[in-house]
Amino acid sequence: MQGLRELLSLILTRIAPKGKQAHLTIRLSGIYNDWQLLNEFYLLLHTDYNTMSTITPENITTDWNQLAEAVLAGHVITQEQGLAVLDSDDDQLLDLMSAAFKVRRKYFGKTVQLYQLMNAKSGLCPEDCGYCSQSKVSDAEIPKYNFLSRDKLMQGAEIAAQRNVKTYCIVISARGPSEREMQAVETIIPEIKAKYDLKICACLGLLTQEQADRLKECGVDRVNHNVNTSADYYEKICSTHTYEDRIDTLNAVRDADLEICSGGIIGMGEQPIDVVKMALELRELGVHSIPINFLNPIDGTPLENQGAHLTPRECLRVLALYRFANPKSELRIAGGREIHLRSLQPMGLYAANSIFLGDYLTTEGQQAEDDYEMLEDLGFEVTKTEEVQVS
Ligand code: SF4
Repeated sequence: MQGLRELLSLILTRIAPKGKQAHLTIRLSGIYNDWQLLNEFYLLLHTDYNTMSTITPENITTDWNQLAEAVLAGHVITQEQGLAVLDSDDDQLLDLMSAAFKVRRKYFGKTVQLYQLMNAKSGLCPEDCGYCSQSKVSDAEIPKYNFLSRDKLMQGAEIAAQRNVKTYCIVISARGPSEREMQAVETIIPEIKAKYDLKICACLGLLTQEQADRLKECGVDRVNHNVNTSADYYEKICSTHTYEDRIDTLNAVRDADLEICSGGIIGMGEQPIDVVKMALELRELGVHSIPINFLNPIDGTPLENQGAHLTPRECLRVLALYRFANPKSELRIAGGREIHLRSLQPMGLYAANSIFLGDYLTTEGQQAEDDYEMLEDLGFEVTKTEEVQVS
């Protein structure tokens, strides 16, 4: 098919005026099979090139299918395009999700990756992130405990393996790991990996280069450290560390040759431009995996009154935006899925390709059985392998 695509592109560039050629390339790039390709070629042959307006990848703002094709051809969406996605009308929602699915399908087919969280140290953090029930400024009634025992972490891994989860995520509430916590992680990770077919993601707060290197050495596959929001908005949600501190950690993770997992939280009072800027920043950072949370406002946290305005349709537009901005990254619908997407949860998976199974850090998720049923109803399939390329 690649040869046919190249031949047809060549013919078109010979007969069409120069200014239209980028547009023609986009039109041909997102097609899945020979028959669709020939059909599109036929339509293009009957196009009056002289009256056709010149469309470049940058000025597509309402034709989502065309935007998807541009993204598949390598176009990096602009801030304006990101804002247009977020601002799009409810009437366009199905077209938008269909276009997002076109991109998702190319890199992930109809597969879904499952993740499971383990809150390995709860409620003892000296930082002041406004959304977090575990921070020093939170009065939320949550369990508080130090680093969990080996047995509890192994039990969690066993459940994850039984549930066909791909990645077991070990999380601690902390500014960064203490030496004792580092040693505990270095002890338990090889044991888990020797016994179960699980990838390990560690979320331990801010890391030095030496700590990141040690995590790589002991068998951690990936580190999660969310940027959470845009650089501009960060100081509104946290004062005890900066956005740059978080970027420094992500750079250390990359330099340690670990995969980067980083995403954010929508609904903290940020503007649409912050949501767009975060999407593009994550692309710049080369993030492998992007968890998108929709704020679950927890009583007793500074942001307890935020997030209520989010609608399921807005959440879907956010997921479509992140898929367009980061076509090849895993995109996970994370915390707040159940309360904000509600009955539209399945539609989110036309853009995203991953979910957390079970509970979140301090809030409950829905039953794993309900998630399996949702995936089966969608005709999607749980996978433990890396992304697939659909031609
Ligand atoms: S650093 Fe992590 S655990 Fe601590 S307050 Fe912020 S989000 Fe919560």
